[in-house]
Amino acid sequence: MAKLSSNDIPLSAFEQAMHQFDEAAAKLNVDPGILEFLKQPRRCLIVKLPIRRDNGKLEMFTGYRVQHSISRGPAKGGVRFHPQVTLDEVMALAAWMTWKCAIVGIPFGGGKGGICCDPTTMSTHELEHLTRRYTAEILEFIGPEKDVPAPDVNTNPQIMAWMMDTFSMHARQTVTAVVTGKPLPIGGSEGRMEATGRGILITAREAARHKGISFQGARVAIQGFGNVGSMAAKLMHQEGCKIIAVSDIHGALNNPDGLDIPRLIEHVKRTKKVINFPGSKAITHDELLSIECDILVPAALESVIRGDNADSIRARIIAEGANGPITPEADKILNEKGIFIIPDILCNAGGVTVSYFEWVQDRMGYFWEEKEVNQRLEVIMVKAFNNVLQMAQEHKASMRIAAFMLAIKRVLEVTVMRGFYS
Ligand code: NAD
Repeated sequence: MAKLSSNDIPLSAFEQAMHQFDEAAAKLNVDPGILEFLKQPRRCLIVKLPIRRDNGKLEMFTGYRVQHSISRGPAKGGVRFHPQVTLDEVMALAAWMTWKCAIVGIPFGGGKGGICCDPTTMSTHELEHLTRRYTAEILEFIGPEKDVPAPDVNTNPQIMAWMMDTFSMHARQTVTAVVTGKPLPIGGSEGRMEATGRGILITAREAARHKGISFQGARVAIQGFGNVGSMAAKLMHQEGCKIIAVSDIHGALNNPDGLDIPRLIEHVKRTKKVINFPGSKAITHDELLSIECDILVPAALESVIRGDNADSIRARIIAEGANGPITPEADKILNEKGIFIIPDILCNAGGVTVSYFEWVQDRMGYFWEEKEVNQRLEVIMVKAFNNVLQMAQEHKASMRIAAFMLAIKRVLEVTVMRGFYS
């Protein structure tokens, strides 16, 4: 089993993912050889991307695409543009996608991609070139039946449109189902933009019910106000929760009486930041995480709750909107404190579930109303939450370990059925 590191050497994201896997696998009686097969990525691709910047200089970027598993269907997972993207991080995110798709029972494996770049310093023109070159470099590995990318941190429907167009130019025909999270007029799905936030809303609501906490008026703090955080805020606010604190990379703020989320979303559209929102008080990033609340939603990046700050958390429920926001060391501390954690691979699976709906609609060439998308999502998320809760209760395990156990069982089942080609 991967060891928890000392405070001096934090586990890498992939080591964290391995640690979670090992802990759950130890509770299942599985052939160690098969476990090793399930654990390691199937394929890792590193690509060099030469891009001519607007100032005429040629710059090299590095991109990655990892297919962790293709046992249950095509690999599925987002593409991240961030200066800290590494192969290790992409491997971890791809593995989490495998388990996530299995938990919600959709016919995909797990994949993830990323480009090490700072998109905030790049023009639209440069971003388009980078996206198109990346797509061309990974072209033979992606496709509706092979691997289906989607948006993640700092990527959006426009970037998906460029990926789809580049792939289609090479295929000499329009292939909308090669990526999901596209704009609506080119094969996107109703409800996709809100889907991850909606999944967080549904699982947080189920968790509150399970813990006997009233969802109406529940005090919520949200870290990160991008696609996931802002949509979770909007939907939870609509359902009667009180969003008492939010943050983004520039700062954090709170209002114990609840923030006016529709106006905050307008403010962020205008200023690109949450700070200086009228009627709120500035707080530090650390204060946001340790604020007393019913539900804390980390919706930014990995490893924000660690061994050194876990003890300060005063939430009753943590809904992991982000992937990997809690390190294994922190997970142990939070479990001892009795905090109910909805693990990322369950909590934020609404996004990939509606991505699956988008892929289905693209392949059918027939598109659903938003109401239908949301209803189908609700059914899948509630079922997944209850499946994981039941597993946790049966095995006296945390929700995270139970989620991994359920996912490993499902991937194992198809792996054994398919057998090993050699
Ligand atoms: P995004 O780029 O739209 O938003 C990220 C937000 O986090 C921004 O508001 C940014 O300012 C903020 N942020 C970054 N560093 C921060 C810090 N140190 N403190 C506070 N805020 C900080 O990204 P996103 O798509 O919302 O993704 C967020 C997380 O959710 C990631 O872990 C991603 O993998 C995960 N996720 C995204 C989706 C999706 O559909 N987009 C689905 C599942 C999981």
